[in-house]
Amino acid sequence: MARSVLVTGGNRGIGLAIARAFLAQGDKVAVTHRGSGSPEAGLLGVTCDVTDGDSVAAAFKEIEAAHGPVEVLVANAGITDDTLLLRMSEEQFSRVLDTNLTGAFRVAKVAARGMLRMRRGRLVFVSSVVGMLGSPGQANYAASKAGLIGFARSLARELGSRGITANVVAPGFVATDMTDQLSDERKQEILGQVPLARYAQPEEVASAVTFLASEQAAYVTGAVLPVDGGLGMGH
Ligand code: NDP
Repeated sequence: MARSVLVTGGNRGIGLAIARAFLAQGDKVAVTHRGSGSPEAGLLGVTCDVTDGDSVAAAFKEIEAAHGPVEVLVANAGITDDTLLLRMSEEQFSRVLDTNLTGAFRVAKVAARGMLRMRRGRLVFVSSVVGMLGSPGQANYAASKAGLIGFARSLARELGSRGITANVVAPGFVATDMTDQLSDERKQEILGQVPLARYAQPEEVASAVTFLASEQAAYVTGAVLPVDGGLGMGH
């Protein structure tokens, strides 16, 4: 049966690959954007800024009217704002937390309400290997991504008895606009630490997400699934 799927930040990068993977399975897929519109035919583009609760509420209304209650939520929207601790302003720290972590809280809270009524649902949070390993210059980002793990695991405990799972995908380095910003020197340094010696393609992250949202993963909850070419092994 076609499910109602929402991918935040599904207008580009990893989110778009995730949205396409659900669409290819025959699901009804909505993606959020902040002004770019629907990325392509077949995907329902809804305007939504995850830092704004009213915007999140309006997006869910629009999606529910078109596709029914959200059964699969992929909290993927995220930003970086890198700098070393002593140069990092409180605004830079808070903005990244507000988007990556509190943003996931805002969407998960609305989605969970509908899922509790249906007594089924899948919550998937896009974290990062950096949340577990840490990364110089990314204290804000790493804190937000580590926070998602505690958040997801708490939801796994709160909502599990109602047939709702909450899991995390932790990608390593994926070829997108986000990693394009890194210097060539930093890219080489990273690749030297990845056992598979390459970046991930966004589609490889999408496969992990669709698995966690699938019937085959019905007994998987509170898990952190790395898609990092082995970079984070041991965490
Ligand atoms: P991109 O920079 O390519 O895309 C980021 C997405 O997040 C865009 O769709 C953007 O929307 C959306 N977004 C940002 N801020 C907001 C907001 N306030 N409200 C709603 N949407 C917002 O990033 P990636 O595709 O690379 O990353 C996607 C996720 O994967 C992020 O959570 C990132 O942290 C994570 N990740 C990425 C890795 C990588 O190597 N690329 C590695 C590990 C994790 P808009 O187009 O409107 O700006």
